[in-house]
Amino acid sequence: MYDVIIVGAGPAGLTAGIYAGRFRLNTLIFEKVNPGGQIVFSPVIENFPGFPGGIETLPLIERFKKQVDELGIDIVMDKVVEIAQDAQKKPAFFTVNTPDKSYCARSLIIAAGAGAKKIGVPGENEFVGRGVSYCGTCDGPFFKNKDVLVIGGGDKAVGEAVFLTQYAKKVVLVHRRREFRASKILVEKAMANPKIEIVLDNILVGIEGKGRVEAAAIKNTSTGLSSVRECQGVFIFIGIKPNTGFLKNKLFLDETGFIITDYDMKTSVDGIYACGDCRKKSLYQVINACGEAAVACDSAHRYLLNL
Ligand code: NAP
Repeated sequence: MYDVIIVGAGPAGLTAGIYAGRFRLNTLIFEKVNPGGQIVFSPVIENFPGFPGGIETLPLIERFKKQVDELGIDIVMDKVVEIAQDAQKKPAFFTVNTPDKSYCARSLIIAAGAGAKKIGVPGENEFVGRGVSYCGTCDGPFFKNKDVLVIGGGDKAVGEAVFLTQYAKKVVLVHRRREFRASKILVEKAMANPKIEIVLDNILVGIEGKGRVEAAAIKNTSTGLSSVRECQGVFIFIGIKPNTGFLKNKLFLDETGFIITDYDMKTSVDGIYACGDCRKKSLYQVINACGEAAVACDSAHRYLLNL
């Protein structure tokens, strides 16, 4: 029986692990893909305090992991597929199921994160891994001297467009409105980059090719006119969807699956807390994911002490 099981080892899950370790809670962390979560798909974090000029993501996550490790907390590489509560038992406890095993804990912290949203145009699914990508860091090197399209107008799209210029011959950044949602500082970098062409008021309508991406069709939202851009890659960054499928009908989620919590990160079930990108909130950054994790773990600790 663990005091707390943390689901997810991104910045939020690892921070919760650090706090749980320091409270000397008997803790286990589950991670289904790779410790670090989706932030490892961004090369650099530019707005994390204490690192003027930015910090590369992978070394930062290594430091988070080392801190967890120093506190003697294990990260189990397995996928949580179900949680259940045995409220009849006193004190009540939770069961966390992976495909092959069951684990028990007196409290849970859900830090399951989020993944890339798909855009749903013809050709998208067909060409995933053959020119369509959701990760510049992972796939950028495959596009050396190639032409690529980047879709989106948030921090991710604009940041990745700049990153991809290291490899690509040309990057066309396509955004559906005239104003970017991304931070001004990133937009300034993109506008100053001679390899980037910015195309506003346009949406992606289809991806074409024979076996691999060869072109993308875009449509002007004001004129309705379509055009075809020859390219070998299409990078799509249009937001995130939470990894909360295993929590359906267990916790209150919003209509898109984000977990609803109160200010103490408490979910709709006593003893279960949530933090990071799987939680409904207004800002999805590493910095507040870590802050929420500290609050979630403090709340779990107080719950365990009956405070
Ligand atoms: P985002 O901030 O939600 O931006 C999504 C962008 O995609 C918006 O510009 C949106 O356009 C556009 N979009 C949405 N649906 C579309 C569609 N169907 N067709 C065309 N465009 C579409 O998401 P993101 O930039 O992917 O970033 C994901 C999250 O990670 C964000 O919350 C972001 O803040 C966070 N992030 C954090 C850091 C950090 O911690 N340092 C760094 C990068 C990203 P509209 O503007 O018109 O809605």
